[in-house]
Amino acid sequence: MERTTITNGIVVTLDDDDTVLVGGTVVLEDDKIAYVGPADKAPRPAGKVIDASGKAVMPGLVDLHYHTAIAKGWSDHLPLWEYLDTLWYPAIRALDDETAYWAALASYCESIKCGVTTVNDMYRRLEGLATAAEEIGIRAVLSNDIADPEHDLDSLDDTRAAHAAKHNAGGGRIEIAVGIEWLPMASEQLLRDARALADELGIKFHIHLNESMTEVDNSLERFGRRPTEVAYDCGVLGPDCVAAHCVWLSDREISLMAETGTHISHNPGSNAKLGNGVARLPEMLAAGINVGLGHDAAECNNSRDLFETVKLASIIHRAVRQDASLGQPADILRMATRNGGRALGHETGRLAPGWKADLILIDLSGPMFVPLLAEHTAQLYSHLVFAANGSCVDTTIIDGKVVMAGRKMTTVDEELVCAKANEAFTTVLGRMVVPDPDPGTH
Ligand SMILES: [Zn+2]
Repeated sequence: MERTTITNGIVVTLDDDDTVLVGGTVVLEDDKIAYVGPADKAPRPAGKVIDASGKAVMPGLVDLHYHTAIAKGWSDHLPLWEYLDTLWYPAIRALDDETAYWAALASYCESIKCGVTTVNDMYRRLEGLATAAEEIGIRAVLSNDIADPEHDLDSLDDTRAAHAAKHNAGGGRIEIAVGIEWLPMASEQLLRDARALADELGIKFHIHLNESMTEVDNSLERFGRRPTEVAYDCGVLGPDCVAAHCVWLSDREISLMAETGTHISHNPGSNAKLGNGVARLPEMLAAGINVGLGHDAAECNNSRDLFETVKLASIIHRAVRQDASLGQPADILRMATRNGGRALGHETGRLAPGWKADLILIDLSGPMFVPLLAEHTAQLYSHLVFAANGSCVDTTIIDGKVVMAGRKMTTVDEELVCAKANEAFTTVLGRMVVPDPDPGTH
């Protein structure tokens, strides 16, 4: 057994009582948390000891809607549909395992450096992604971009193959899920078949729903119903399903999400950058829906810093509703941690014995956190939501293993990863075939 003892930190447990322990101790045994509490009651330190003086110790962040990205900042001046047709789809069609592997390593590297310990990643070439996740040490749920065959993306068979090759790799840290790109590229039959595959393999489901008004219009035109109504009718929704975006939900669609226990990933940064609108978060929460947070993709939200999404998830709703009582820090921090863990069926997102050892150390020593009265929980929570950004993360621990310490990656050569991801982008740009505009998909 490998034991790690973290001492002297301000331990933000995010448990049901919002317990914060000043000078508390956290003990990890292998991949689990064994003890969280005062130092004088802690088991005698053995093995590795991490001194967390001047740091907060909190659960790692869960990025609940994620795409590995290869083309951040490229052609992103275009409107969404044009961007998808001329950059996003051509780029992901040009991927192979090798380019996907380097793109994933670079993506996961940025996330880990910003305190993310789990990604719910929908992308292509899952074997390349899984290898990257295994090596870098991140917890990853990986799903394909499944669409009808004429769109030349992924199929259910691709997911079946990835499942056979990589499900539960990395000691269970890597999972394969079923991912549906979105309804404009899916028939009802495909949705039903995708649900059947998820049930057969006992794996999770990841789908984009109601992201833009144009998607809703497309669904009304093709199916005579709104996207979430179609997903419901095809059996897609359920407690194993994460629906991303959900910006334009009707009251009935919110009820369908709540009734089925579907989890929602709220992605306010991506929704704002792409001009898609502001989701009805207060109504979702009032309906009892479990909502986590996602950055989406670095092509649609150029930063993978989930602390930025954390802040936006509070302030964007205050702005549009003219109501500063919305998005209180304790609730937003839960969305970024335990709600995301719950959505994926993981025992992550809070510091408690028996839960997974996924946690981060936040450096409180700089001006970002001044002033701070250590015993004043509300002030610390406020700093973490409104003042922090990913550069405050000093150490990231996943599955009991330190993957970043003192802002240095311990599992990969960061410089090499960045160089190779640049090369992969150049390779993909060279291979990309940009099709003629297809009015059928618009
Ligand atoms: Zn997305």
